[in-house]
Amino acid sequence: MLRYYSWTIGCQMNKAESQRIAGYLDAAGYQAAASFSDADLVVLNTCVVRQSAENKVLGTLGLLKGLKNEHPNLRILVTGCLVNSNTQELKRRFPHVNLLFKPGDYPELVAWGQKQGILFEQGSLRGPFPALKTSTHYNDAGMTSSPCVYIPIIQGCDNFCSYCIVPYRRGREVSRPVEEIVYEVKGLARRGIKEITLLGQNVDSYGHDLPGHPDLADLLNELNGIDDLARIRFLTNHPKDINLKLIDTVASLNKVCKHLELPVQAGDDDILKTMRRGYNVKRYRELVHTIRRKVPQISLSTDIIVGFPGETEEQFEKSLSLVKDMKFDVVHVAAYSPRPGTLAWREYQDNIPASVKKDRLNKIEELQAAVASDINLQLQGKEVEILVEGRKNVKWFGRTQSNKLVFFEDAGDWLGQLARIQIEKTSPWSLGGKVKK
Ligand code: SF4
Repeated sequence: MLRYYSWTIGCQMNKAESQRIAGYLDAAGYQAAASFSDADLVVLNTCVVRQSAENKVLGTLGLLKGLKNEHPNLRILVTGCLVNSNTQELKRRFPHVNLLFKPGDYPELVAWGQKQGILFEQGSLRGPFPALKTSTHYNDAGMTSSPCVYIPIIQGCDNFCSYCIVPYRRGREVSRPVEEIVYEVKGLARRGIKEITLLGQNVDSYGHDLPGHPDLADLLNELNGIDDLARIRFLTNHPKDINLKLIDTVASLNKVCKHLELPVQAGDDDILKTMRRGYNVKRYRELVHTIRRKVPQISLSTDIIVGFPGETEEQFEKSLSLVKDMKFDVVHVAAYSPRPGTLAWREYQDNIPASVKKDRLNKIEELQAAVASDINLQLQGKEVEILVEGRKNVKWFGRTQSNKLVFFEDAGDWLGQLARIQIEKTSPWSLGGKVKK
């Protein structure tokens, strides 16, 4: 039996694509290996959004060179953001790699497999998307892995925010047809999947390139009618593109989770302009106000970059005030780091010292910990419903519709079940409680 090992870093999009590649390999008769050294075929799904991620990728490619010297039959496949139009250059640098294919370029993978005598299926779906790896969700002992999967609905990005490498690496936006996604999700729900997360760099752009221009709200309406599916999530929204139709749809559909990822990135208009985000702080604040009015139970996550080139103390204070005022449930904060090839890298000097960036990052994190602590404390003693996703040591864990992570202990088998939990403990990051039977 041939074995494969899949190594993935980066965003949920990469994780979703690795699930698909694993689906192909399973269908071709491969089995998952426990490590690189146990494998006949290795897939690296790479990320280069940050320098640290790119360094990890390059380190792993070096490690595999040694392994290939010992096992010349080892096949090495590389995909993800490292691979764009530079494949000739990468082939020269990494001659031990058998195949470099762009993110989502499954026809290239299938064509290579056929040449190698590997019988990849074209997939049971129309279009180039193979079946997801789902066969292991149930065995004789019951469900064995998470009941949640990621589904890419749109690849690429047309926005060109000045700090971001994604449009250069992932290319322009390409949406998957509504029927193809619905067909896939129906199959997944039949096989025990309870929750899907629709993925795109900007889900608000979904469908503009498809005949008839369906949008995310139309897609959600179709998916909400699928029996056996309990929950639908999606990410990421763009504050310049999210519209009232989508907000009303989130409010009205029972399976759509009341949670939005709405990255603001900065609290100062000049910085937002230099970032090329396409909105100002006033518009963002009004948007949050509208969302909360229409969907009162909404939980909101955001992203913030600190130490963008030229960010003054005063401008940073505005990001801090925004975090204080908006009362987000979660804030992902990152210190700016320039990525070669982006506009910000070309045009602006990375002139904020690392120590200042670190200090600003800590200030946002501290403030947000206090905000999240207050928000979560309001759930103390309340009953919430979670979808149980797995087990860590002795504790089951799952998330509420609002994306709060909840832990509980119980001897029963809860994987994939909706459980009602009485909250007994809260922290800024998670909740704990007792299951109600
Ligand atoms: S919206 Fe901006 S930050 Fe997001 S992927 Fe596109 S270019 Fe990058």
